[in-house]
Amino acid sequence: MKTEVKEIGLYINGEYVPSSDNETFNVTNPATQELIARVSEATVEDVERACQVAREAFEIGPWRKITVQERSAKLRKMADIILERKEDIARYDAMDVGKPYESTVAHEVARAANNIRFFADFVEEQGGETYPMREAYINFTRYEPVGVAALITPWNVPFMLTTWKLGPCLAAGNTAVIKPAESTPLSVSLLGEIAKEAGIPDGVVNVVQGQGATVGNTLTTHPEVDLISFTGSTTTGKSILKSGADTLKKVSFELGGKAANIIFDDADLEKAVPGSIRAAFMNSGQVCLAGSRILVQRSIFDNFLEKFKKAAMDLKVGDPQEKGIDMGPLVSKVHYNKVTSYLDVAKEEGATLVCGGKRPVLPDHVKNGYYLEPTIYVHNNPKSRICQEEIFGPVVTLIPFDTEEEALQIANDTEYGLNGVVWTENLQRAHRISYNVRAGTIWVNCWFVRDLRAPFGGFKKSGIGREGGQHSMEFFTEVKNICMALN
Ligand code: NAD
Repeated sequence: MKTEVKEIGLYINGEYVPSSDNETFNVTNPATQELIARVSEATVEDVERACQVAREAFEIGPWRKITVQERSAKLRKMADIILERKEDIARYDAMDVGKPYESTVAHEVARAANNIRFFADFVEEQGGETYPMREAYINFTRYEPVGVAALITPWNVPFMLTTWKLGPCLAAGNTAVIKPAESTPLSVSLLGEIAKEAGIPDGVVNVVQGQGATVGNTLTTHPEVDLISFTGSTTTGKSILKSGADTLKKVSFELGGKAANIIFDDADLEKAVPGSIRAAFMNSGQVCLAGSRILVQRSIFDNFLEKFKKAAMDLKVGDPQEKGIDMGPLVSKVHYNKVTSYLDVAKEEGATLVCGGKRPVLPDHVKNGYYLEPTIYVHNNPKSRICQEEIFGPVVTLIPFDTEEEALQIANDTEYGLNGVVWTENLQRAHRISYNVRAGTIWVNCWFVRDLRAPFGGFKKSGIGREGGQHSMEFFTEVKNICMALN
């Protein structure tokens, strides 16, 4: 059956519009290479208009002036609409990212609704501080919105990650110009109509589509943009930091990772094996938090490897739209070429291929997709490129270690510091490892468990700042101190 090609516009000032020069770019389905959408490519003028509209909606519009309760009510409505439309949203993510539909609808879209609802509730509870000075003066604080926010998101989890920024941004009273990744613009484009239906005023939520180097760059240099919340690669983060410097924009960066997943000989393998499989291959390994460096204590190495390999080979790779699929394709041809180039690197570096490293056998209708089997290497050199660089695909390396000190040394021998994972039944060891791995999140005997109040972000080159609960609110607000004479 031929797929209908969707026409996707920019969303500016409460309506979908074509770009000012009518240019579009094509989006294809990575499972089939079929054309699925023509998307308006924003010009510099379109991005400038979106920023101007967001500025007016901030300065003049009612959004930041209405009560917190009124804002939160609209955001809760938005969360409800996201849940009502969960099938559409997950279908879109399955079409352009290649995410398995079943798990996207059950987990990611539910989390997206929760992102909005959580911050709607959170701001209603938020207070300020008071600092009385003898009997003469009182200081008190107010958390006020910053202004116009550029929300720039990657292709691996488009809808959920955008709402993770949009929730606190809007709850605090800011306005937004969103830029989704060019290869996966579909689900985020729906946020315009969802915001409208929720009663959020025109101009508060805008979506501009197009390339990072042009559309993204116009946004990050624009004088009307006050703050940039960016999730993406470390390389792009560095360039955005420079482009936002002249206008002194506030930044929050969630960047790349290369997490160590450490398995000690006292680990419960009934939990450690399936946990490590999820951490390695969820979303085809296209996850910033992926546990792609798997450090295994030598005394259990062979046992772990055998179980891990079997579980990896049991994963069902196929059409992401179908039920029971664990892994879809890689997101695009460019990314497929990047990920598979590491197969050559691994060969040159002398890593041992345990399984994978080739295209899986697939049904006819997805045989042209950008698929790669779950791929496992064993390597003794933690300094090799496959152990140091973010491959961002279903490719992991097992590294043997002997002692706790050695595991820690290998875990920290990376430029990244987003997260770490440790599997052990020894409480003291769990504490020691958690304290000493230099990363923003450590999961002990679990992975990818998120409490939205908890801080999330990276050490070293994995980010700047933290998201989550109060941390997101600090970024999306300016705190003002008011000092009042009492006599
Ligand atoms: P990317 O950096 O290439 O692109 C991310 C976004 O930035 C896209 O919307 C892109 O168009 C835009 N962009 C690119 N160049 C730009 C520029 N010069 N100015 C402004 N915007 C620009 O990243 P990606 O390939 O889409 O995503 C994968 C990366 O994201 C991985 O490194 C992954 O680890 C990271 N990531 C991090 C987290 C986290 O929470 N830390 C979450 C998901 C993904």
